Amino acid sequence: MGRFAPSPSGRLHLGNARTALLSWLQIRAAGGRYVMRVEDLDPQRSKAEHEQRQLADLRWLGLDWDEGPDVGGPRGPYRQSERHALYVAALERLDTYPCTCTRRELRAQIEVDAPHGVEPVYAGTCREGPTHPERPASSRWRIPASAPVCFVDRILGERCQDIAREVGDFVLRRADHGDGGAWAYQLAVVVDDAAMGVSEVLRGADLLDSTPRQILLQRSLGLATPRYAHAPLIVGPDGDKLSKRHGAPDLSALRERGVDPRLVVAALARSAGLLGDHPGLPRCTAEELRASFELSQIPREPGVLDVSALG
Ligand code: GLU
Ligand code: ZN
Repeated sequence: MGRFAPSPSGRLHLGNARTALLSWLQIRAAGGRYVMRVEDLDPQRSKAEHEQRQLADLRWLGLDWDEGPDVGGPRGPYRQSERHALYVAALERLDTYPCTCTRRELRAQIEVDAPHGVEPVYAGTCREGPTHPERPASSRWRIPASAPVCFVDRILGERCQDIAREVGDFVLRRADHGDGGAWAYQLAVVVDDAAMGVSEVLRGADLLDSTPRQILLQRSLGLATPRYAHAPLIVGPDGDKLSKRHGAPDLSALRERGVDPRLVVAALARSAGLLGDHPGLPRCTAEELRASFELSQIPREPGVLDVSALG
């Protein structure tokens, strides 16, 4: 059972579309249940019109889902903004403490020798009590002592992270936005994947470094860990992450321009190594790709997408 979990803070770009297509193919090839979950945790950036547009774009691409905010289902609600009580219950089961550090103070704690480049590591400043009790406080998790958290990514292979050294105690609920603060992605995604019965997570490689934190939370909450597959990102012909600079249109722009969605599906599939036997195939539907889909076809290297192929 799998899911796509878009944040309704803007338009879906081709990278989001490819993640959606691949996760849908993975689940539908195995005859599994597919859920659409809207991750509207950021009250300032999330907009209903973005959600509507994103879901319409995904349907235009040929995807469907058994449960979601527009179709309902037994494990709803399917918007994170409506799942507050579940996050409260999870937070209560974890050892957290208030943190009143400002952004500026946190930036000063940046450690430069993390393997993935510059990673902000929390130094534990407020562990023994907040230094500024008058300020709004976020909730940080006093992470349990543990060896590095390791998992086998189904595309990228084994990954390990020493969370205490590379991340530190991390925020589960923010201080901002009033009303108790916005929930952190790491907590909400763990609670929801478990509550919705998600057993397979396929998402973009930009979230790879979040996975060990999520696994540590799952262990502490006694929740099952799904299998993870992180798809390498899409790059332009010059090898840089695909962006507007390459002339990459968002999904809505393609739909509004009247582009054949089968052209888009074929380009996304090709960039993910799925059309190995038919590299020249100009158009295909998600449904046509379904029967022959195998996760092992997706290469570990970033996929190249040539925007000019989109007409
Ligand atoms: N909402 C996240 C995003 O749009 C995805 C979360 C996930 O797949 O775990 O980047
Ligand atoms: Zn602090």
